[in-house]
Amino acid sequence: FPMELAVSEMTVEGRRMFTGVVRDITDRKRMERQKDEFIATVSHELRTPLTAIGGALGLVLGKHGGELPKTVLKMLKVAHRNCDRLTLLINDILEIEKLESGALKFELEDQDLATLIQRSLEDHKEFAGKYQVELRFSNSPPRPWVHVDERRFHQVMSNLISNAVKYSPRGGAVDIAVSDVANRVRVHVKDYGKGIPEDFHSRVFERFSQADSSDTREQGGTGLGLSIAKAIVEHHGGEIGFFSKTNEGAEFYFDLPIRSPEKRPKVSARPCA
Ligand code: ADP
Repeated sequence: FPMELAVSEMTVEGRRMFTGVVRDITDRKRMERQKDEFIATVSHELRTPLTAIGGALGLVLGKHGGELPKTVLKMLKVAHRNCDRLTLLINDILEIEKLESGALKFELEDQDLATLIQRSLEDHKEFAGKYQVELRFSNSPPRPWVHVDERRFHQVMSNLISNAVKYSPRGGAVDIAVSDVANRVRVHVKDYGKGIPEDFHSRVFERFSQADSSDTREQGGTGLGLSIAKAIVEHHGGEIGFFSKTNEGAEFYFDLPIRSPEKRPKVSARPCA
């Protein structure tokens, strides 16, 4: 049965003693699972009507936007934008549910890591440009091969890069680099923004957790991006983490197992752009 072990240490008459409590957490696990299933079911049920609302609003705005009074047009645009946000949130909830339950299939292939990173950077050039943030990649060795699902890899990079850009100062830069860490390769995404407050460190990867409360938040987002990234990295047998000091920026990293040379494909892969 699932259990939790709590050990405490004390000194009695100069001798160190340890006591341990083993707790059966079957009920807690069952309740967590039921809660997750409930959220997934509700999210799924919400998606269909929401798609219809979004479609109808898009149609009205696209076909009749020009005929509508200015105030009505403005309100419809707000409704449409929020419909998109809600759709994004629901898709994220469903995604994490599938990831954590193991229902998602990963298509693993041998890939040249530097090429994958270059593609991720290309995809985020426009986004970073809007925030006037430069994306820099120091493409120096190591240049390992990894065994990953390309789409999921880009999802992780997308979460890390978009966070780094969002929390960077205007005119700032985000540095992406690769390093070797004991039989693994580590991808770093470093920004020079406001950093992560210390009291939030332990909750960064929790679902729906955001450092700013909703009324002071400047950036959009669902608080699910990093929990999705964590689930994907762990599915690849890797680890994800970060270093951060308030006002000195944040450096997120994730490790992936290296593909050993003898297991690499004979035909060389697409060259790095
Ligand atoms: P969100 O959708 O809010 O970006 P994430 O799961 O990606 O959700 O991130 C959770 C929270 O962690 C963010 O809301 C933000 O408070 C904090 N965070 C993540 N990345 C950074 C970063 N690079 N700099 C500062 N804070 C960050």
